[in-house]
Amino acid sequence: MTFVTRFAPSPTGYLHKGHAFSALTAHAAARAAGGRFLLRIEDIDATRCRPRFEAAIHEDLAWLGLGWETPVRRQSQHMADYEAALARLRDRGLAYRCFRTRKEIAEDIGRAPHGPMEAFRGRPLAPSEEADLLAQGRPFAWRLSLDVALAAVDPAGLTFREEGGERPVTLTARPEIGGDVVLARKDVGVAYHLAVVVDDALQGVTHVIRGEDLAEATHVQRLLQALLELPTPVYRHHRLLVGPDGRRYAKRDKAQTLRELREAGTAPAALRRELGFD
Ligand code: GLU
Repeated sequence: MTFVTRFAPSPTGYLHKGHAFSALTAHAAARAAGGRFLLRIEDIDATRCRPRFEAAIHEDLAWLGLGWETPVRRQSQHMADYEAALARLRDRGLAYRCFRTRKEIAEDIGRAPHGPMEAFRGRPLAPSEEADLLAQGRPFAWRLSLDVALAAVDPAGLTFREEGGERPVTLTARPEIGGDVVLARKDVGVAYHLAVVVDDALQGVTHVIRGEDLAEATHVQRLLQALLELPTPVYRHHRLLVGPDGRRYAKRDKAQTLRELREAGTAPAALRRELGFD
């Protein structure tokens, strides 16, 4: 089986050293295994994604010395794939409409894949109540019905291999840590977890290599793979780089971007070495 991995950034900002580390880690793993390295643009959120950031992803990764296969999958061009997956879940009663507003629900895992999950548990409204809200044109998200989902699969069989730690382990997913995750956002029509599992399967990804801030997301993603009868890749969650202040690099912290480093005269080989790659 050919080893296939991917780097899957969202074009919501410029790439920083943390992204470079992640991309280099995945790329080096593909090379070592004689496998394939894919770039995927996770741009379902049209309100936050920008063409200039997407162009910069290509430029910055090329500057770093990476190459990837084309065409590059851009999630915004494949909404029908995610809608089909959602329809399969809906048809089996595995998803319900959630009309709660963001004020009512502080967390929104569909928007922000990083950080600790907060388990929201809800339930479908009574049909008459739902019909009223629909008639009023109230927007809604589709959420996974965790209870129905856990009854539809063998929870003990939700295992996955994690190779990111000291030694490889087989873990059993605990999807309850994610709760009734959003499958399709009100504004976008799909959400992070669903798009990722659909894409990883469609692209034949055998190894998901990404930062450990997404380790928790694996638990619900493993459940979705079982529900949609998709293969489960091997996971390698790598450590997160920390900056000089001891905090992890993050877009919102205005971490120094790769383009700033480039403009300041950093050589890509020097950055690769600094990050532990030759
Ligand atoms: N698009 C996600 C991000 O920006 C990564 C998704 C993944 O690797 O599963 O961090």
